[in-house]
Amino acid sequence: MKLTFLGTGTSTGIPVLGCDCEVCRSGDARDRRLRCSSLITTREGKNILIDCGPDVRAQLLRHNVRSIDAVLITHSHYDHVGGLDDLRTLSYARPVDIFCTEDVAADIRRLMPYCFSGSNYPNIPKLQLQIIKPYKSFKAGGIVFEPLTVIHGKLPIVGFRFGKAAYITDASLVPQSTIDGLYGLDVLILNVLRVRSNPTHMNLEEALGVIESVSPRHTYLIHMSHQMGLHSEASLRLPPGVDFAYDNLILSIDG
Ligand SMILES: [Zn+2]
Ligand SMILES: [Zn+2]
Ligand SMILES: [Zn+2]
Repeated sequence: MKLTFLGTGTSTGIPVLGCDCEVCRSGDARDRRLRCSSLITTREGKNILIDCGPDVRAQLLRHNVRSIDAVLITHSHYDHVGGLDDLRTLSYARPVDIFCTEDVAADIRRLMPYCFSGSNYPNIPKLQLQIIKPYKSFKAGGIVFEPLTVIHGKLPIVGFRFGKAAYITDASLVPQSTIDGLYGLDVLILNVLRVRSNPTHMNLEEALGVIESVSPRHTYLIHMSHQMGLHSEASLRLPPGVDFAYDNLILSIDG
C-alpha cells in the first residue's frame, strides 16, 4: 500500500500567518507544511484518511483523490477534525465511516450537530461514526488497525498501528503499553514539535527517545512547528534512519 503525507505541519501550518521568520519565508517546498494528515491507499484502491484538518479540501484536490472509504481520527483538536465538513461531496453516494473513540465522537457531534440531527436537509455531509477502543483492533478499508493510546498534554488520544507501520501524532508521552505495541516496525510516523520542550507535544529529544526504545527501521517525523528550523538544516540534526516528512512525500508500505 501507499501512504501520502498530505500535511506535516503543527496546528498553525507553515508559513504561520503573520510570521516573517526564515522558515515561513523559505522558498523550499519542504518548508511549506499544511495541517497534519495522511492518506493510505490500499492495493485494492481504497482510500483511508488519517485525520481530516482544515486543509483537507486543498490536500485532496492536490492529489486528485476522488473517494474516501474511511477516516481515522486521532483526537478532536481543530487541526485534526476541522475539515470533516469538506467530505460532504464525497459522502453523497455512500456515508463516510469515521473511526474514533467515544469522547471524540461526542466532540464531533457537538462540532457538527447538523450532521447528526436526523434531519434530511439536503447537502449535509453523511458521516457514520464508528466507535473504536484503545488496543482493540478494527478493520477499515480492508486494513486492520490497532488504536494505541498516547498522551497529549493531559489528554489520552490514539495513534494507529497497521501491519509494520504506525502513525502517532500529537503525543507528549508514549506510555509503555503503547511502546510494547510498537516493536518490529518498518515505518514509524511520529510527531515532533521543535527542539525546545512543550507541555503538549514531544520535542526532538523526547521523540528520539521513543525512536530509540522501539527501533523502527525508518522513522518519519510530522507535526513540526516553524521553530524546528529549515528542513534542510534541521535534517542534519537527525540520526540515521530518521527523517522529517514533508508534504506530498509518498511512501510505499508492505501490507
Ligand atoms: Zn495537532
Ligand atoms: Zn515563522
Ligand atoms: Zn492536538
